[in-house]
Amino acid sequence: MKIINKIRVMESSVRKWDKIIAGKGSDGGVLDCPPCRIYYMLICVGCPIAEYTGKKFCKGSPYVPWYWHQTEVHGHIRKKIYCPECLKLAQDMRDFMAEIVEHMKEKEKKEQKV
Ligand SMILES: [Zn+2]
Repeated sequence: MKIINKIRVMESSVRKWDKIIAGKGSDGGVLDCPPCRIYYMLICVGCPIAEYTGKKFCKGSPYVPWYWHQTEVHGHIRKKIYCPECLKLAQDMRDFMAEIVEHMKEKEKKEQKV
């Protein structure tokens, strides 16, 4: 996939987390994660998040503390904002997605110069 398309995928991920932060969305994990829907397929290859962290399945990203907080403290199927800690963790995740978008845009600029 071209890098410009990967950037689009990650931008939709930023929007997903913006919605969660605004209280208008929830996190369905693999089922509604824009990059997972393309890259996960049980093996998690080629995802921009995995390329950025060097680890598969969102390890090394703020998704891990979000996931465990949701599972251990709230335990609902729908992962969304339930308390101030949720909000902070969702913001971390959104910021991380935005960081990856920026990183990919930089990379794209460099590739165009070559
Ligand atoms: Zn919480």
